[in-house]
Amino acid sequence: MKKIASPAALSGRAERIAQRDRSDAWKKPPRRIEKSECITCDTCLRSCPAEFGAIFDRGLDVVIIPELCSGCPACVLECPVDCIYVDEDWTPTDDAMWNHIELTAKGA
Ligand code: SF4
Ligand code: SF4
Repeated sequence: MKKIASPAALSGRAERIAQRDRSDAWKKPPRRIEKSECITCDTCLRSCPAEFGAIFDRGLDVVIIPELCSGCPACVLECPVDCIYVDEDWTPTDDAMWNHIELTAKGA
């Protein structure tokens, strides 16, 4: 079951969305989903702690937003096909996706 995040933790996520950047405090690299192996079951999405909320189902694929991913790695433990990998060389999320994230964050 998903734990309820504290308001302070959630505001940390809002801050990361506003700044469109990762927290410097996170020492672990983010994770990425290998699209060619993913079966889009959304299990990882449900397992990502609310204070991170880093996983999005875009319809055709499921993605991890590296700037929101602490590398914790709760999703990795739940993925039935083991297709979530460390992403040391992550690339910044594009503006279109950030706009989508902002909209969903406001609706939350
Ligand atoms: S590693 Fe943790 S924060 Fe990153 S997507 Fe997976 S569950 Fe979410
Ligand atoms: S749990 Fe694994 S297979 Fe399912 S959507 Fe996430 S990455 Fe894809």
